[in-house]
Amino acid sequence: MYSAFAPGRVEILGNHTDYNQGLVLSAALELGTTCRGRKIEEQQYRFRSEGFTKTYQFPTGQTLQPVADWVDYPLGVLAMFIRRGFEIPPFECEFSSTLPVGAGLSSSAAIEVSFALFLCRLCGLEIQAFELAQLCKQAENEFAGVQCGLLDQVSSIFGKKDHFIFFDCKTHGVRRIAMPAGAVLLICDSTVRHELTSGEYNERRYSCFEAAEKLGFKSLREATTEQVVNSKLPELLKRRALHITGENERVRLAVEAMKKGDLAEMGWLLFESHESSRRNFENSTEELDELVEIARKIKGVYGSRLTGGGFGGATVSLVEANRAEQIAQELVEEFRRRRKLEAKVLICPVGDGAVETEDYLPNLSGS
Ligand code: ADP
Ligand code: MG
Repeated sequence: MYSAFAPGRVEILGNHTDYNQGLVLSAALELGTTCRGRKIEEQQYRFRSEGFTKTYQFPTGQTLQPVADWVDYPLGVLAMFIRRGFEIPPFECEFSSTLPVGAGLSSSAAIEVSFALFLCRLCGLEIQAFELAQLCKQAENEFAGVQCGLLDQVSSIFGKKDHFIFFDCKTHGVRRIAMPAGAVLLICDSTVRHELTSGEYNERRYSCFEAAEKLGFKSLREATTEQVVNSKLPELLKRRALHITGENERVRLAVEAMKKGDLAEMGWLLFESHESSRRNFENSTEELDELVEIARKIKGVYGSRLTGGGFGGATVSLVEANRAEQIAQELVEEFRRRRKLEAKVLICPVGDGAVETEDYLPNLSGS
């Protein structure tokens, strides 16, 4: 029997910065997906997942194609291994997960990475951690048809207990930075998702590219807030661009705050980030705004903001570890009282990534 675990992740700061070549701060969770399996005699690759009724088998030696179901995530990874020339013996495997699926905590990266590591163990392969992240991302792009960036896979692989992951989407540098002691993350799903989310997402993406071009930059990564403020960009594009430059700056400030163990400063940056989403990027919702407003008034909450794409979904809050249970309860009760909705909260200690590895500092002078 071989087994491998990979965690989900949450975005702490750096909203919509990935496709703008920007900076992100994320964290791996203790929740994640485990892949268990073994080699078998029959010439097949067999997949099952706890809680998913449909099981799959594919004959070995044939070209693998997506089937438009959950198995596409691990199947894509298998296809990428084969494409790279690795010989994979017949196997059976089964997934089990402690992550909510489809809730923005990247259960998709967790299933990919757990399976990729399972394959490495099954076949005795040594693949460098960053390359593994790229391989899983490629699988998701090609097999699941999701144009995700690298952040999810990088976070799942490079996470470290009680550390945040700093990822530079331009240089692909990864650093792990110790979290100030005494805090945990509280993730609160508003359970409200808005329709037309992908349309809004693409519109924001396009606005960012347009703003960068008008400013004469390759990407908004090159721009500073001051330059945007003083530019002749139309008002709407200016606000969109300000969100990105502001997020990049907040990620840098957060790294400094963490080095000083300054939880109050970290929290303030989270609130500022949310405010920028609300006013500049307009990717918040009334429910997310309400959750952040409620959190602002609860004792022991350092900061709170929407996490992920926006237009619904969840908030992430940095809260005092000793009061986390109480804070979660107060948040849910007040949200119920104001909105007549049942929010779902998770108190998430920050966990280890799937592999034991050092920070990844790419050779920038190399090709
Ligand atoms: P998120 O990554 O935020 O959880 P996605 O929509 O990107 O949401 O990925 C969710 C999809 O990934 C599920 O619909 C399913 O197809 C697949 N998936 C994730 N975890 C598992 C699992 N444990 N077993 C089977 N499929 C899974
Ligand atoms: Mg996903």
